[in-house]
Amino acid sequence: MGFPDIDFSLPAPDPLEGDALWFVCYRGRVMVSSQPEQPWFPRLPTPRLIGLEDQPRLYAGRMADCHCYAVALEHEEQVPPGFYLEDLRRLLGRLDEITFTMAGRASQLISWYRNHQFCSRCGAAAEAADSDRAMICPACGYTQYPRITPCVIMLVTSGEYALLARAARFPGGMFSCLAGFMEPGETAEQAVEREVYEETGVRVRDLRYHGSQSWPFPHALMLGFTAEHAAGDIRVDGEEIVEAHWWHYRDLPPVPPGGSIARELIDNWVISCGDIR
Ligand SMILES: [Zn+2]
Repeated sequence: MGFPDIDFSLPAPDPLEGDALWFVCYRGRVMVSSQPEQPWFPRLPTPRLIGLEDQPRLYAGRMADCHCYAVALEHEEQVPPGFYLEDLRRLLGRLDEITFTMAGRASQLISWYRNHQFCSRCGAAAEAADSDRAMICPACGYTQYPRITPCVIMLVTSGEYALLARAARFPGGMFSCLAGFMEPGETAEQAVEREVYEETGVRVRDLRYHGSQSWPFPHALMLGFTAEHAAGDIRVDGEEIVEAHWWHYRDLPPVPPGGSIARELIDNWVISCGDIR
């Protein structure tokens, strides 16, 4: 997934020229217009116009011709009239891919900034670095970079069947690809093999990297793979994964909505099955 119209480079323009897009963030939610149609972020020369000029802000990058800022709200009550805080997850699929990427980036930057106000080594107040995306401790020099957590997500297939599982946290009867956090010291490929085996007792072979997706809930990076079933019958622990089955490509259960790499992996595989027939 490449984005030619998005530029994350620092530093911010100074002074700000023209309007900017303001992504106002509060605990995994982003402020959007209350108008019923397309979610809309304030595009203004200054956050003063929506009464948020004193809030901490971080430069988030440029989207097409527009500079973007992430703004931290301290309290929910600060949301100005005409706007509300929308759960970032509920914007997935409702915004175009580029705008969602920027909203997710803004949300991640703000949560990182808010959670790293103090040095995690010595407890002194940390300061934002000038030229780098980092919080630096003036007392001991410890540097805290934005936290990004790599996860692997994989579609395991066996001919016209794919292994889809239902986690306890999934809504309704949804099934999806297996996924999990990487462990320190692991390669992504080792993480795929371990997660599939831990969650379903299945061994895989022929891993192929598919692509990655930022998953800002709150700060994951999904690394997508496909893999072939090598050995083993499905067994689940019944706790994290409550059900897992082999599903025929023409008889799939409810799967994740568009906009997710899980859905992309499933859709690509379904198309490839159709091509073979
Ligand atoms: Zn320190």
